[in-house]
Amino acid sequence: MKIKEVRIPGEKKARARALLLLSGGLDSVLAGKVLEEQGVEVVAVTFRSLFFGPREAIRAAEEQGWPLVVVDITEEEIQIVEKPKYGYGKNMNPCIDCHGQMVRIAGQLLERYRADFVATGEVLGERPKSQNRQALGIVEKLSGLKGLVLRPLSAKLLSPTKPEEQGLVDRERLLDICGRSRKKQMEMAAKYGIKEYPTPAGGCLLTDPGFSQRLKKLLEWRGRLLAEDIQLIKNGRVFFEDDGIIAVGRDERDNEKVRKSALDSDIIITTAEVKGPLTVVRLKGEMESGKLLEDRGKVNKGGDGSGQGNLNGKSSWPSQRSQAFNLPVVRKAALLTIRYSKAKMAEEAAVIISWKEMKELRKFRKEEWEQYL
Ligand code: SF4
Repeated sequence: MKIKEVRIPGEKKARARALLLLSGGLDSVLAGKVLEEQGVEVVAVTFRSLFFGPREAIRAAEEQGWPLVVVDITEEEIQIVEKPKYGYGKNMNPCIDCHGQMVRIAGQLLERYRADFVATGEVLGERPKSQNRQALGIVEKLSGLKGLVLRPLSAKLLSPTKPEEQGLVDRERLLDICGRSRKKQMEMAAKYGIKEYPTPAGGCLLTDPGFSQRLKKLLEWRGRLLAEDIQLIKNGRVFFEDDGIIAVGRDERDNEKVRKSALDSDIIITTAEVKGPLTVVRLKGEMESGKLLEDRGKVNKGGDGSGQGNLNGKSSWPSQRSQAFNLPVVRKAALLTIRYSKAKMAEEAAVIISWKEMKELRKFRKEEWEQYL
């Protein structure tokens, strides 16, 4: 867990300070405004992982003039997505566990930032599965912060928290918003002059049906989630085969992203004579031999990202590498590379299959890739 202070919290001056979980969405901003209005200092906390980032929170904190701390929870979030105790939402979003974790981590920062409690923008009944009365109770339980989690927008409908009981926060000036209607929030946004805000959960890839499908397949395919695999399936057209994953870039920008997600142990395929995709093949066996983990973090620097290869290197593959190239997944990746290139209507086309400094030219006939047209 890495912490970055985007706007450094200063000395505590008010009678109370809240660590506000800030997504940048309207509810979390309003929760902060309600507290601020009654003299509570707000220090915003937001999170970064492979599925969501701090962009909207940075924008909102800047707009409100709040100090902001960004916490990187990449590994922690992967563990939760892999095995959520309270299950998934509509897609691969384990919102109850995820919120519980965020509140728990914010709780660990209370002392460091001299804050008295954690505040969130949760609204009772706004999301049927993750924000009902029971779910809010579970989030508090998961966080281990009994009585220290304040939801300013629905507080009057919930049991009083410690900061309310201790007089740090005036319960009378908190709200009783409930349900899915956003009318009250819209009125408050107008009152506070908040014009820009993203749609709820709009910034989380785990709520995206297409990405969730891929992630589900990845979990079934590998039996676990690895950051390197998640990075690979975020871009391009992705195919899961028994012996590997294929990611085929859709255009030049996508090619670059796919290339950046490749490890040294991956096989790269490009078209030989025409413009086309850059394809990455991650062999399942590489992982099982532990090679992928050894290569963790090393990004393949080969290629110029244009999808074009060259034949300057020697064609001298080690024998086991030659065997790897004859795997069905590599053959399919080569055919898909042609299918998504300008060569797809030609009678014959060639690809360059690369691994580290070694390259091999392979030719195919139209009848071989036709099945993928
Ligand atoms: S939408 Fe995404 S970031 Fe938000 S609680 Fe759910 S899983 Fe976590």
